Amino acid sequence: MRTQVAIIGAGPAGLLLGQLLHKHGIDNIILERQTADYVLSRVRAGVIEQVTMGLLDEAGVGARMHKDGLVHDGVQICVDGVRHRISFKELTGKAVMVYGQTEITKDLMDGRAAVGAPTVYAADDVALHDIFSGAPRVTYRGDSKSHEIDCDFIAGCDGFHGISRKSAPPRAITAHERIYPLGWLGILSDTPPVSEELIYVRHDRGFALCSMRSPTRSRYYIQCSLADDIDSWPDERFWEALRPRLDEEGRERLVTGPSIEKSIAPLRSFVAEPMRFGRLFLAGDAAHIVPPTGAKGLNLAASDVRYLSQAFIEHYADKSDSGLDHYSDRALARVWKAERFSWWMTTTLHRISENPFDLKLQVAELDYLFRSTAAATAFAENYVGLPY
Ligand SMILES: Cc1cc2nc3c(=O)[nH]c(=O)nc-3n(C[C@H](O)[C@H](O)[C@H](O)COP(=O)(O)OP(=O)(O)OC[C@H]3O[C@@H](n4cnc5c(N)ncnc54)[C@H](O)[C@@H]3O)c2cc1C
Repeated sequence: MRTQVAIIGAGPAGLLLGQLLHKHGIDNIILERQTADYVLSRVRAGVIEQVTMGLLDEAGVGARMHKDGLVHDGVQICVDGVRHRISFKELTGKAVMVYGQTEITKDLMDGRAAVGAPTVYAADDVALHDIFSGAPRVTYRGDSKSHEIDCDFIAGCDGFHGISRKSAPPRAITAHERIYPLGWLGILSDTPPVSEELIYVRHDRGFALCSMRSPTRSRYYIQCSLADDIDSWPDERFWEALRPRLDEEGRERLVTGPSIEKSIAPLRSFVAEPMRFGRLFLAGDAAHIVPPTGAKGLNLAASDVRYLSQAFIEHYADKSDSGLDHYSDRALARVWKAERFSWWMTTTLHRISENPFDLKLQVAELDYLFRSTAAATAFAENYVGLPY
């Protein structure tokens, strides 16, 4: 087989890149290790920046998001039982959209199927070859046979545990990492959300987040220990841990019910530099991870894809490699700002340290955020997404 761009991974980064390239007449094949059903069953991101909405529209898959997504003009932060609101609309004129990653993935898969672009699911043993030559190749096993794809470029969109980053020479990569000593225990339940807007909670008992997927489906998280396992958290224990962290109104309005999904996610900050190795380009979680507190992971995957798709379009349409040459620097400049914001949200809202000095600093940070229009504007600008 031959294609122009071989894309590894059918998560949001790979599917969105494939769709944008197809729109510009650039051939691509996506190789995904899992089945389509498995990819669609992963419950993850839910908050979409305005610039990401624009990209989904550009890819021609935004219609359902505009119909079913929930536009949020602000966010609430509850500190030790007192709730404060930050208005994105007033401070930046912008908003975010609450629309599940599962739905975005479905829209992208449907869009790809509608144009007949090829995706190979359940592709085993994907391997990258000759990435520093002018003729890279990808091999894989599928249907008990070996296959080979010749291509011009490889886009590594295969997430943190994928093969693409590992295919670059180790000496060519610098990895920056911070691991937080806690995780997020999340549940999804078919109960009405406690609030129309997200509530981030800083409490002496630990962090909590009240989020949602629709007016009838809630997503809640509480900070947990990395040593915890899911079986030690029956639903009743989760609700008992969440309720006292809320303010009085939240405690009264909280509707509990059986969970339909429950998982523990570790919190990590990670950046691999650079994001280009010869003809291999990394995008999304393959190159960087943020703790989910700032809701930036999916949005960063989308911004990488924007820079990368434009670079490929310039290469094929204008015969210019300028975009490809600058891809890594451009993408990383935005990545590091989102890393900073996600780190700040995480360290300010979680109970990480028992040192009273650190705890006082958290309260001072938040007090400043609520009292200063400048601080609130900086927060809102970052939350709704920095411009490309
Ligand atoms: C609990 C939680 C909450 C989150 N909340 C938010 C949020 O509100 N907002 C936000 O923006 N982000 C959020 N995120 C982060 C977001 O989900 C990720 O950043 C996003 O999925 C990254 O997309 P991606 O396409 O780069 O990687 P992935 O979604 O990881 O996709 C990579 C794909 O590559 C495939 N793959 C892996 N290895 C191979 C291989 N060897 N060969 C072929 N295919 C392979 C995988 O199966 C996968 O389908 C959250 C994450 C978690 C865990």
